[in-house]
Amino acid sequence: MQRPALSLIIPVYNEEAIIEELDRRLKAFLAEVDETWEVLFVDDGSQDGTPAALGQLAAAEPRYKVISFSRNFGHQIAITAGMDRAEGDAVVIMDADLQDPPEVVTEMIQKWREGYDVVYGQRAIRHGESVFKRATAAVFYRVLRALIPIEMPLDTGDFRLMSRSVVLSMRALREQHRFVRAMVSWVGFKQTAVRYERPERFAGDTKYPLRKMIRFAIDGITSFSIVPLRVATWLGLLSGVVAIVTSAWALYAAITEQTVPGWATIMIAVALAASAQLIMTGVLGEYIGRIYEEVKRRPLYVVADTLNLPSTDASSATMEPPAEPSERS
Ligand code: UDP
Ligand code: MG
Repeated sequence: MQRPALSLIIPVYNEEAIIEELDRRLKAFLAEVDETWEVLFVDDGSQDGTPAALGQLAAAEPRYKVISFSRNFGHQIAITAGMDRAEGDAVVIMDADLQDPPEVVTEMIQKWREGYDVVYGQRAIRHGESVFKRATAAVFYRVLRALIPIEMPLDTGDFRLMSRSVVLSMRALREQHRFVRAMVSWVGFKQTAVRYERPERFAGDTKYPLRKMIRFAIDGITSFSIVPLRVATWLGLLSGVVAIVTSAWALYAAITEQTVPGWATIMIAVALAASAQLIMTGVLGEYIGRIYEEVKRRPLYVVADTLNLPSTDASSATMEPPAEPSERS
C-alpha cells in the first residue's frame, strides 16, 4: 500500500466520552482535506470503554489504526509510539479531547506545503482551563525557556505538524524521560507557528492531574538542562566568599581577644569546609551532567539536506531507529 500524505497521531487515555464526537469531527475534517490520510490512535492502557470503541471504529474504517499499550505508559510515550509507526509525509500530533481542533490542521498543512518542516500550534487564548493551570503553565514555560539551551516557542503543547524528515530524526532519540515538544525543537529544521484559540475539553476530566503535571515539568527541565546541577557550584563560590570574610573577621576578633580560645579556629574550619564541599558537589555535578548527556545517546547532529553527495540518509541520524530500519523517503 502507498504511504499516506497525512498521518494524525492521537493519544487516548480513558476517553470513552469523547470517541464518538472525535470520530465525527475527524471524518468531517478529513473529507475536506485533499490528501490521503491515516489516523493512528494510541490507546495508552485505558481501563474504560475506549479500547472497545476504537475497535469498532477501526473495523469500519481501515485508515483508522490503533496501537494499544499493555498499561498506561503516559502521554509522551504514547505520542512517541505514534511517531514510530506513522507513515505520512506530514505527521500531526493532536489530543483526543478536541482541544486541538482538527480544523487548525488545514492551516498547518498549508504552511507545510509552503516548505516548513514543523508547524506548531500556539495557543492564543485558552478556554475553560483553571486560572491555576494557566498561571502554572505560563510560569513553567518561561522558566523552562530560561533554563534550556535550545530555542523553544512559548505557549505551545504537542499539537504540531512535522514533516517526515523531522519524524525520522525524532525516531533516533530514544531517551526514557521524554519531553517531546522540546525534542522537536532540538531536532531543528524550518519551524513556524499557527495561532489558535484553545477550546475547552469536549467531555470528561483532564488526564493530567497535578501530580502528573509536576512530574512532566521536572522531566522537561531535567531532560534538557543541567543548570540545576550547576547551582551547587555557584552556591559554593558564594559561600567561599562568605568564608573568607568570616575568617578575616574571626581572626581579627581572636587577635583583639574578644573571644574565647578556639572559637576562631572552629569558625574558620566550618566556613571553609562548607564552601569546599559545595564546590566539590558542583564539580561532581558537572561530570554527572556530562554522563547524563552521553547516556541519552542522542545523535550528534541532524542533516537536513546534502548536495552532490549520495543521498543515503537525508534526515541523518547516527543511530538507526529500532523499527523500519531500511525505509527512507
Ligand atoms: N493522555 C494519554 N496518557 C496519559 C494522559 C493523557 O494518552 O497518561 C492523552 C489524553 O487522552 C489526551 C491527551 O493525552 O488525548 C492530553 O491529555 P489531557 O487533555 O487530559 O491534558 P490537558 O489538556 O488537560 O493538559
Ligand atoms: Mg486536554
